[in-house]
Amino acid sequence: MTKSSALGYPRIGADREWKKALEAFWAGKLEEKEFHARLQEIRLDHLRKQQAKGIDLIPVNDFSYYDHILDTAVMFGIIPKRFAYNGGSVPLSVYYGIARGTKDAAASEMTKWFNTNYHYIVPELNDVSPALTENKPLIAYREAKEKLGIEGKPVIVGPLTFLKLSKGYDQSETDAWLDRLLPLYTQVLQELADEGVQWVQVDEPILVTKLNDADVQRLNKIYSTLATAVPGLNIMLQTYFESVENYETVVSLPVQGIGLDFVHGLAGNLQSIETSGFPEDKVLGAGVIDGRGIWKASLQAKLKLLHTLAELVTPERLIVQSSCSLLHVPVTTEREAKLSVELKNALAFADEKLDEIVLLTKGLTSPNAEITAQINEAERKLQALQHSEDRNRTAVQEAVASISVQEPNRSQPFAERHVAQQDKWQLPLFPTTTIGSFPQSAEVRKARQLWRKGELNNEQYEAFIREQIDIWIKIQEEIGIDVLVHGEFERTDMVEFFGEKLDGFAFTQYGWVQSYGSRCVKPPIIFGDVAFIGEMTVEETKYAQSQTQRPVKGMLTGPITIMNWSFVREDIAREQIAYQLAYALRQEVEALEQAGIGMIQVDEPAVREGLPLKENEQADYLAWAVKAFRISTCTVQETTQIHTHMCYCEFHDMIDSIEAMDADVISIETSRSHGELIHSFELNTYKLGIGLGVYDIHSPRVPSVEEMSSMIERALRVLDPELFWINPDCGLKTRGLEETVASLRNMVDATRIARANHATAAVL
Ligand code: GLN
Ligand code: ZN
Repeated sequence: MTKSSALGYPRIGADREWKKALEAFWAGKLEEKEFHARLQEIRLDHLRKQQAKGIDLIPVNDFSYYDHILDTAVMFGIIPKRFAYNGGSVPLSVYYGIARGTKDAAASEMTKWFNTNYHYIVPELNDVSPALTENKPLIAYREAKEKLGIEGKPVIVGPLTFLKLSKGYDQSETDAWLDRLLPLYTQVLQELADEGVQWVQVDEPILVTKLNDADVQRLNKIYSTLATAVPGLNIMLQTYFESVENYETVVSLPVQGIGLDFVHGLAGNLQSIETSGFPEDKVLGAGVIDGRGIWKASLQAKLKLLHTLAELVTPERLIVQSSCSLLHVPVTTEREAKLSVELKNALAFADEKLDEIVLLTKGLTSPNAEITAQINEAERKLQALQHSEDRNRTAVQEAVASISVQEPNRSQPFAERHVAQQDKWQLPLFPTTTIGSFPQSAEVRKARQLWRKGELNNEQYEAFIREQIDIWIKIQEEIGIDVLVHGEFERTDMVEFFGEKLDGFAFTQYGWVQSYGSRCVKPPIIFGDVAFIGEMTVEETKYAQSQTQRPVKGMLTGPITIMNWSFVREDIAREQIAYQLAYALRQEVEALEQAGIGMIQVDEPAVREGLPLKENEQADYLAWAVKAFRISTCTVQETTQIHTHMCYCEFHDMIDSIEAMDADVISIETSRSHGELIHSFELNTYKLGIGLGVYDIHSPRVPSVEEMSSMIERALRVLDPELFWINPDCGLKTRGLEETVASLRNMVDATRIARANHATAAVL
């Protein structure tokens, strides 16, 4: 009989109680013993919930004290030497030291989990000799069984994915590392089998990316080793986020189940099954409910898909499940009291997705009138949103349709604009600027809170913001920065701020998801056609400009960043959403220009992270992302200078696309990948204005003039001095006032030195 299964449940809790417990423990407000008890309560609560909903295969060991990749590393004793770990069970101080750093040792790097917004801690293999510190999946399995009578399905990250995501070893050592890890994996699984575990979910999302021949061989080796060593155990080899590459190899591995993503990899996976078949000795984990999106599923369509799959593999060998762990969605829609009924009815967070999984399983195995009615009801709710006014803004749709068939070009090419802009702005060699935000001091946050609570009225709050602008305009002038910013004091978040001022967005009250560690984000929901309804940034920018003779840059968040940091509707293509956003932002750009703002920055830090996992889809994405940026910025006069900014990622492999955005000036984070970025400019000359960040803003340390000078000189070896700008890596909102002022002073000093050194060269 077809079973239902979940792949992982959000850790954070409906009220972020997990986050709160972690932070209380870190702050020394919760004793270790209580902390463990608190987390156990949360963990059991989540298991109970899944049990009550009727999920057959409930995951255990998906829970974590921080991150599951860190857990895996720590379980295998992969603990960098600098944390002074000497074997035995790993104390929490070491565990959290790796994640967050200690006063003596820097934290391990963290990075994005495939194309999601979840960040994992990158294991550092370097010089450690791995050894099993504890069998974490076994502990989780026993707990669920003893406390709740649940026959859990332990989840563990597979060896190939783990290795590929780790760093600190050379390609040539991969096999040696595999030989070190495999016995540990074997031991873990062996102990699970001895305990009587039925199913283990081994996550290998790396199988949706391109593998080289050596990795394919390793894959075979891993799973044949495990199959021989632990014959009695059922392994569900779980993939997600896309369709698997090397389908035939994967399905012929000696495992008992293969989990495929039939949401994000629907076309590819379905086609593979239809053309190559699915082996008769295996169970198919059918990921039909989207583990990453927030929308209710069209259950009629899902049921149809499941029938097709059941025909291919038989109902007995089918498991209905989510496409990936539910880690990536908020917990429940239940408490959302402020959303429109239409919208709320169309949403499904983790709990609602579990209900869908169970309903679909029943719909497949024991259909009856009641189940059919429920399935139809879900359809009706989706339709209601579909027919809402929000999704049918004809004016927006028509405007976007006509704009997106035109080529979004500036009236003149850069070379000509550049001359006109130099003529107008008379900027010195190596103009200095910052990225937009200045320190959001306790005072700033307090004022915003009071205003939100109604304790400050609008006038008072606006006056407060103007005061902050005054202060920082003076500081910038006094330091001698050439192009100023107003400081973004009115914004908490660069996406939310715009979402709140545009139509088509909704904000949940509790829709948090884990981003990294205890840090959670609450992405806005783009649920309708996006519409500009009024000026968003003109007031503050115009005010700032009125206080100084120097140019003040307007500051907007770009269309792709707004989209990539939101949950978005799925009834239209992402490309269309991007164009709607671009069109709305264009109206703001024009309003700023009208108000006399002659330099406008449109930030796109998130362009890179939206890149599809499949290489053959990347060019298309980049093309429409570039186009969206151009749509939002192309209508200004040639003397209006368009800036953009990028950070968080390594951009060296997409310089062409960045150049195609045709921004007059880009400021780009450089510290973290300096060498590679500089190298890419050696290979292709960048022909527009560019500032490579000359200092890292993630640390309170004040960089010296010499350090910045050397960054500048290195950059000038590969970039045209005439087009070079000087700026920090990113916005300064998380920094303190003193360190910010001191760092910027040094930056301006370094600029003066560079000007002196290069002025003669420029004349010659
Ligand atoms: N303008 C924004 C700021 O300075 C940019 C932030 C970002 O790049 N993430 O804060
Ligand atoms: Zn940035």
